[in-house]
Amino acid sequence: MNPTILQTPIDYLKGVGPARADLLRSELGIHTYQDLINLFPNRYIDKTRYYKINELQRTSAEVQMVGKIIHLKTVAQKRGKRLVAKFIDDTGEMELVWFRGHKWIKENIKLNTPYVIFGKTKYYNGFNMPHPEMELLTEHEKNLRISMQPVYPSTEKLTNKGITNRVINKIMQQLFIETKARFYDTLSQEILGELKLISKSEAMFNIHFPKNQEVLAKAQYRLKFEELFYIQLQLITKKLVRKRKIKGYPFTHVGDHFNDFYSNHLPFELTGAQKRVIKEIRKDMGSSAQMNRLLQGDVGSGKTIVALLTILLAMDNNFQACLMAPTAILANQHYQGITELTKDLPINVRLLMGSTKAKERREIAAALEDGSLHLLVGTHAILEDKVQFKNLGLAIIDEQHRFGVAQRAKLWHKNTYPPHILVMTATPIPRTLAMSLYGDLDISIIDELPPGRKAIKTVHRYDSNRLKVFKFIQEEIEKGRQAYIVYPLIQESEAMDYKDLMDGYDSVVRYFPMPKYQISIVHGKMKPADKDYEMDRFVRGETQIMVATTVIEVGVNVPNASVMIIESAERFGLSQLHQLRGRVGRGADQSFCILMTGYKLSSDSKVRIETMTQTNDGFDIAEVDLKLRGPGDIMGTQQSGVLNLKIADIVRDNDILKTARYYALKILKEDPALSLEKNKIILYTYQQLAKHKNIWNYIS
Ligand code: ADP
Ligand code: MG
Repeated sequence: MNPTILQTPIDYLKGVGPARADLLRSELGIHTYQDLINLFPNRYIDKTRYYKINELQRTSAEVQMVGKIIHLKTVAQKRGKRLVAKFIDDTGEMELVWFRGHKWIKENIKLNTPYVIFGKTKYYNGFNMPHPEMELLTEHEKNLRISMQPVYPSTEKLTNKGITNRVINKIMQQLFIETKARFYDTLSQEILGELKLISKSEAMFNIHFPKNQEVLAKAQYRLKFEELFYIQLQLITKKLVRKRKIKGYPFTHVGDHFNDFYSNHLPFELTGAQKRVIKEIRKDMGSSAQMNRLLQGDVGSGKTIVALLTILLAMDNNFQACLMAPTAILANQHYQGITELTKDLPINVRLLMGSTKAKERREIAAALEDGSLHLLVGTHAILEDKVQFKNLGLAIIDEQHRFGVAQRAKLWHKNTYPPHILVMTATPIPRTLAMSLYGDLDISIIDELPPGRKAIKTVHRYDSNRLKVFKFIQEEIEKGRQAYIVYPLIQESEAMDYKDLMDGYDSVVRYFPMPKYQISIVHGKMKPADKDYEMDRFVRGETQIMVATTVIEVGVNVPNASVMIIESAERFGLSQLHQLRGRVGRGADQSFCILMTGYKLSSDSKVRIETMTQTNDGFDIAEVDLKLRGPGDIMGTQQSGVLNLKIADIVRDNDILKTARYYALKILKEDPALSLEKNKIILYTYQQLAKHKNIWNYIS
């Protein structure tokens, strides 16, 4: 088949026509033949098999069965009536139920005659099937049928306008007839052979019209592999191109700033992991390519000092640096921490936030442009166009999941060469996922906590035990420690959450009366200045308890705090719980995290709470989180669209992903330009995908 056929507008397909074409375009993004064949079914209704009543499972599923109706009756219910049939086979009995269309059924159903029924089973005092599809066994045997019925993605509008699953099925068949169902292969003979994959034509046919589970599985494997393979190919190529082409300022010099600090001002001995990571960064920045590196390290693993040493390297090479944090509190804390650490060094550090006054902004702008300002710490305010550096050589972004990729890119355009970029995150992303999401980034991992840290003890307590929990806090405070009590704040119910927080605060104040106890409160409705003031009091140890919403989630560092109480813990996501817990356990004392919940918990909440009480390992937690939520969610809404896969599933198809990556690396290593004859087909497919933007959809 001439491949250009696949670029034919969908309007030309027999059975489509202008109205349907418009709907297919607007509802499913189907513009061409190619888009249509790449509309893969969400699931398949398996009509290859007939179930017996005694084989049914309580998890409701669509099943096909053979049996007889022996009895029909009408039952009155609160509103209206329902029609109930007793259905039997040689293994048992169940009920078929109708809430509408009674008359037609009563007139047409034949009692004591074999039927094939199909539908979703429910369990309530025995099995039943509401509104089954029914067909006489004799008819059923006469008809030729598709045994695995594909179910395509759809929208309400499509169904309402008559483009049902059956219609999609029909036009899909038409497409295969018109194109003679012959597709050029998109993978090389080498890969097909080594992995024993079926051909593209076979895979396409069987994904849409499978005869049984076995051929379907082969088709799915082949197409998932292909999808993941081309994404990996693209990510790896991009990385190679960046390494070769995107020039950066080589930081070849290790000078006084770095050396003096390293020998005389380090407040502690670096961990092995910190040293290794710094070496990786130095090597990367020392080459003449731009660094684009993700620094992962669990909460409290000591990323800040790594950032500072990196900044000092920039300074040694006469470049400016910036450090961006997602919240004012965090930016402030970085600013304070860095000014403290570098007070004996000749470097000029300023803080820029949304709240910075105009006069100060002007000073900062002037100092940035004449080069007398070496390091700018701040929030998103750093990204404003007015902020122009004389020679920005390094941009560090803390808690990357709060910043979009677009914002990251914006930093690039401030100079001739883009600055080296170091993105720091405490959200541990499982390695394989990180590879597929950030395949174009290099990754450094701090996988070791500073010495002397005791593992945080995490327990789950019900709300009814709150007084005991308060008593525990009291004991810790007597020992000189501090405690956090955190409430959820979820936007949709902001007013209610605010009330929960205030009620909670009142009860804390009652149990811990002034002046013996001092309590800070921080929440989203406060002015930034008030928040900072309250936060500051807690940091300085003037208050013993910090009552707060999740604004303290990231980065805040108070080593003396040893207790973290999380209220309504079932409402937090796993990574959030882990982040919050990371606020304690930062000093030498034993720390505790207490997860408070009511008695009623969903099964997901139970898994989350259990995971938290069982492990402190951020990577384990991330794996569980990934399974519970899927990758889009983990990255936060900002990046949820990053991997918009058509058929593969990053979590379930992890093994295929690894294989795909292995082959992509292997091929590019042998043939970076894909110029060998045997890889011609890969190069061609890759170019086609890029040309028709099919691949770029995956990576924003
Ligand atoms: P995070 O990676 O979460 O940003 P921080 O950089 O805030 O962690 O470090 C957490 C705490 O551990 C800070 O109090 C910091 O001073 C301390 N710390 C970092 N590295 C070490 C180390 N090698 N030895 C002892 N303490 C360290
Ligand atoms: Mg940090």
